[in-house]
Amino acid sequence: MPTIARAAVLYGVNQPLQIQDIELDDPGAGEVLLKTSASGVCHSDLHFMEGKWMYPLPAVLGHESAGVVVQIGDGVTNVKVGDRCVIAFVQSCGKCDRCITGRPNLCSDTQSQQRMDRLKINGAPSMQFAGMSAFADHQLVSATACVHVPDAVPMEVAALVGCSVMTGVGAVTNTVKLQVGQTVAVVGCGGVGLNIIQGAALAGASRIIAVDMLENKLAAAREFGATDTVDASKGNAVEQVQAMTGGGVDYAFEAIGLMKTAQQCFEMARRGGQAVIVGMLPMAEQLTIPNAGISFLGEKGIIGSLYGSTRQAYDMPWLMELYRQKRLKIDELISRRYTLDEINVAYDALKGGEVNRSVIVFN
Ligand SMILES: [Zn+2]
Ligand SMILES: [Zn+2]
Repeated sequence: MPTIARAAVLYGVNQPLQIQDIELDDPGAGEVLLKTSASGVCHSDLHFMEGKWMYPLPAVLGHESAGVVVQIGDGVTNVKVGDRCVIAFVQSCGKCDRCITGRPNLCSDTQSQQRMDRLKINGAPSMQFAGMSAFADHQLVSATACVHVPDAVPMEVAALVGCSVMTGVGAVTNTVKLQVGQTVAVVGCGGVGLNIIQGAALAGASRIIAVDMLENKLAAAREFGATDTVDASKGNAVEQVQAMTGGGVDYAFEAIGLMKTAQQCFEMARRGGQAVIVGMLPMAEQLTIPNAGISFLGEKGIIGSLYGSTRQAYDMPWLMELYRQKRLKIDELISRRYTLDEINVAYDALKGGEVNRSVIVFN
């Protein structure tokens, strides 16, 4: 019996999401059906809504989520009915060369790619966004995407571990493996940027320079551990970061998804330093890097960070444990709560730069 779920559907670029019923198949081998508890309102979904990234439409977006297991398919042993889970948006196979060499976020055989017709919108098969389609009150996911949530962690907090916390903290601890005493700049202080900042503080960065154009974002950055702030609306941000650090930082993180700020991050990196691209740069555009920086004059680098180089079954439990010990701020990330029916209002607030993070809460 298929499950009828209430969902927010995107029919076209720059159109409001429509709330309607969709159909989800029963869980097959290795799959899990969850009742959604909370889904974060992440900027990455907005890139698809605005057409900066393409996706077959209509679609149910959403990729930062936690829920309770209501049904399991054959062969599922890592979770059982009633378990509270955070859902990772990569579902690594555990067998390919990327997985067995410790980089499951780059799995070349993700199960989400194999499960393209298990969700139906108006009776027509649709691909599950990020293997989950989290803007719905039920989700059919790969069992390998599910990570247990301890009792001490609220589900809305667990949802944020599923994207912004993992992506931000992991960019520091996993992707670049920051050394104690190194210096960082973080360009863009939204949900992901704030987590890069607190990840850098946890990892022992000596200077954490937050760059944004909004004073409310810079104030949040200071709360999350930024040692210095640069208001990019007032003067040249690159020159300010270079002046503060005597030539640049070890790592400059791009956390917005703009070509201009990606270029700036490369310029903010000191000789031997790196620009770390965490934001989703527009899919079709190309970055231009000055040869003088990358060759023998600079030995600088540029590196992408996908999902904080997550190994979800290992990383998400320690992130939630640090939250329990109050060493990671996650409650403070949540600015507003909305119902699914209010999702378009939530996205308007995100576009307006009003919030750190909003969460859609399901009852
Ligand atoms: Zn996200
Ligand atoms: Zn794999």
